[in-house]
Amino acid sequence: MIPKPFIEDLLHRVDIVDVIDRHVKLKRAGANFVACCPFHSEKSPSFTVSQTKQFYHCFGCGAHGTAIGFLMEFSGLGFVEAIKELAQNVGLSVPEERRADGEPPQRHRGEGEAGEDLYAMMLTAAQFYRGALREAPHAIEYLKQRGLSGEIAKKFGVGYAPEGWQNLERAFDNYQSKALLTLGLAKQSEEGRRFDLFRDRIMFPIIDVKGNVIGFGGRVLGQGEPKYLNSPETPLFEKGRELYGLYQARRAIRDAGRVIVVEGYMDVVALAQHGVEYAVATLGTATTPAHVQKLLRQTDEIVYCFDGDNAGRRAAWRALENSLAQLADGKQIKFLFLPQGEDPDTYVRQYGKQAFEKQLREALPLSQFLLNELSSRGDRDTSEGRARLLQEAKPLLKQIAAPMLSLMLRKQLADVAGITQAELDHEFQIQSVAKPGWGAKAPPIVKRESVMSPPQRLVTLLLGNLALCNRVSDEQAAMLAGAADYAAALELIHYVQTTEQPSVAAFLETARDSPRRALFENAAARILHDVWDADAAEHDIQRILLGVEEQKVLADYRRLMQKPLTTEAEKDQWRRLSRRLAEFKGVSAKAGAGG
Ligand SMILES: [Zn+2]
Repeated sequence: MIPKPFIEDLLHRVDIVDVIDRHVKLKRAGANFVACCPFHSEKSPSFTVSQTKQFYHCFGCGAHGTAIGFLMEFSGLGFVEAIKELAQNVGLSVPEERRADGEPPQRHRGEGEAGEDLYAMMLTAAQFYRGALREAPHAIEYLKQRGLSGEIAKKFGVGYAPEGWQNLERAFDNYQSKALLTLGLAKQSEEGRRFDLFRDRIMFPIIDVKGNVIGFGGRVLGQGEPKYLNSPETPLFEKGRELYGLYQARRAIRDAGRVIVVEGYMDVVALAQHGVEYAVATLGTATTPAHVQKLLRQTDEIVYCFDGDNAGRRAAWRALENSLAQLADGKQIKFLFLPQGEDPDTYVRQYGKQAFEKQLREALPLSQFLLNELSSRGDRDTSEGRARLLQEAKPLLKQIAAPMLSLMLRKQLADVAGITQAELDHEFQIQSVAKPGWGAKAPPIVKRESVMSPPQRLVTLLLGNLALCNRVSDEQAAMLAGAADYAAALELIHYVQTTEQPSVAAFLETARDSPRRALFENAAARILHDVWDADAAEHDIQRILLGVEEQKVLADYRRLMQKPLTTEAEKDQWRRLSRRLAEFKGVSAKAGAGG
């Protein structure tokens, strides 16, 4: 655990422009710096770094964060590792804080309980399995039968876990080490007997973006069960975030401009064998939003490739649901269903690369798949059937943040349901706000300020002008605490009022674990262009606070009027509230007249 004041101090000393420029050459553009985004492929720069705010944001793919966040994303470092690297750059050493409950300092991710290097242990295991493959003719024969060359096996580090229960005893000095259990390489029976998790299986090491082995997938050679066995979740391996083959495929994904997501590691390896090198696989889990986000940073097009059977269609639907919120205009998600009985492995082996890529080109766009699935569930010839279709589409459409895609889908859906788009938007409570910037280059997000709710707007204004947090009085803060949806603004105000040298970057880092983190990051992205000067911002902030007060006064007034006024105190309160309400009317009348 690293003390928070240290993180704040560190962020004051490093300059995000230096940190990023070391990895990605930045060019000055007005108040900010820009570059072509390292997280997605693009020709004109939409990756923007603000030196004043110490924050980066990509208007193309939405990647954003502080210097710490950049190192985590770009170099694949953990939070603590990223801080250590930054600290080293400015000559600070990282203090480790003992936890208040007297527990020892938290270890970092790659460290076992007895100080073992977990990454090194995984590498040792991978090397052992690779060596064991060379001594297992029947395993080599099996791979050959599946059409894999020695070259591809080497590229993916394919190995073999021999038969028998304690083979890893030969690979590790201490087979009894607890770290082997932590890493899921060994298990222990109730009687305390150790044994290897993987036995008589073809081994596929799972590698993170930095090239570390973090887990394994093991496939049986014959008919045994389970057919596929993956490492359990460990301190190194989070299934919902990792994708098999991404490390090997990164270059090919950029060159091809797309990535294919398949279901198994054999599919990835078989496709690579046949020259389709831009495939990755999820690891025994459904596709998660984290997966989608990770992939959309690499490329603009994802093609999910599933079996055409019912299980495949269900998996595809889950993938669709988890992709909707991640979509931005200009990004494409498609679905490829192979003919019954085929998977990518069998298909590419039988028909080859060209036929497979032809299938890819004919994959269904997400919008088409969505409409097909929804229409197939009900009877489109009856009003009831069409009403149900709309009912099922509503929650899905509401998740789509990409304005153009949302519009196209609403048009098509209205068509299918036999109503007008205006009727549909009304039904779905979607405001057809004309969104500026379509087709323009890198639309400045701030132009959409009209669609921000007052609570969002307040956070954004305050984040853009931190000093104004000190102008919020205690009474106003108490009022915000009583109103719905202002918790984020309060969190920010509290931070500024209790911090000696507040900064946007330090705040974002302290809010890393806050449930409102996404909201803060979106606000930070909006302020990159500095559209509000402090006076205008203060005026706006006071107007929002007045709005909150008006709501409160009105609510108090109504509550008071529910029964006759009897005591003097109640009458006093009534006079006070009425006066305040009249003042509000005056304010809004004036504001209206002033236009
Ligand atoms: Zn980007």
